[in-house]
Amino acid sequence: MLHSSHSGDNPPRGGGTLLPVFFSLSARLLVNLEALNMAENVGNVVRHRRAPVVLRTDQGFVLRYVPVISGESLAHHYQRLLAEIAKQRNIPVCNACSQGIFLKHSNEEVFRKYDKKEYAVFENAAQVEEYVVKNCVIEDVGGFLVAAKEKKSKAKNAKRTSRFRIGYMIPALDALEAGAAATEAQFHVRYSPEAGQRRDEEETTQQAIYYVEIGSAVYVFNFALDATGVGARSMENEGASGKDPYILPLEERFRRVEAAFDALAAFLGGMAWGAKISRFQPHWKILSLVAAVTEPIPFNVSPGHGRDYLAETVSRACSLAKIVDGFKAAVYYYDAEGLAEAIRCDNVKVEKHKNYLETVEKAKQETLERLS
Ligand SMILES: [Zn+2]
Repeated sequence: MLHSSHSGDNPPRGGGTLLPVFFSLSARLLVNLEALNMAENVGNVVRHRRAPVVLRTDQGFVLRYVPVISGESLAHHYQRLLAEIAKQRNIPVCNACSQGIFLKHSNEEVFRKYDKKEYAVFENAAQVEEYVVKNCVIEDVGGFLVAAKEKKSKAKNAKRTSRFRIGYMIPALDALEAGAAATEAQFHVRYSPEAGQRRDEEETTQQAIYYVEIGSAVYVFNFALDATGVGARSMENEGASGKDPYILPLEERFRRVEAAFDALAAFLGGMAWGAKISRFQPHWKILSLVAAVTEPIPFNVSPGHGRDYLAETVSRACSLAKIVDGFKAAVYYYDAEGLAEAIRCDNVKVEKHKNYLETVEKAKQETLERLS
């Protein structure tokens, strides 16, 4: 069994590296009038985050600055939901993470302050990882990096790469080609006692003008999860070699993978995250969503920059099934915008759902089945 627990003298295939059951997803979201990720204040203007994007037009490649929502911001909201779900289910979450403070275990002081534990007790980095993973699902799934700086610390730096991957949400290139994405500074007035004092004016003029940049676009959201890596050791940490590649038993890894999926469902199903939502609650609709569960190599769904991304994803998976021994994929999708048909093949299951959360749920069940 590829994904069952291994003993130290019987290492898994791949020389200590586990072959993953991998989940990935891309979705196209129409979002109007949002201020979900603000970057800075310039005078009385609160600016939306923007980033450069290259796209092809009739005149060749062009560079555009477009509204974006950072992966760091999305990861923060995702991890908050994961912490809440974990607490409900009695899955361990450390003190800092359970408060939404994603300091992660980053140095000796964090261990002292939040865990009442001296870092000096750890002999090596592998022991540190074991301790953190057992006690916190957020750092198991979301990773951490301890940069040890005290002389008495025997374990130096300990590292765990995040098992989930997320990136910038950017406008879909097909929408950008049609010019359909923009930011616009909107004029607002608020009451401000300081405004009147500054200008030495009457109380009735105690108003301050401000601008908030709002964004409107068809955004592409990407997410991936190395499900096999949840509860598994990072082999690059000192002291890890020769040890069981799994820190946690199968049953606990199942619970955590399930929570990681359910947090994603809460994220996409709730659509109640991001900055400034108390007065800039966006208008949104999920246009389509494609998810894939694959093994034994990581595989990302093609980002949804055109309505052919389902077809492209299935076509890539079908090609890989011929190239990579034992490659298997299940592609699930939801379509409310008329996606191009996918051409099917053996070893790649393709299934359509009427509801995008059903797609996430089906992918979760498939992942759990393949993990066992
Ligand atoms: Zn934590």
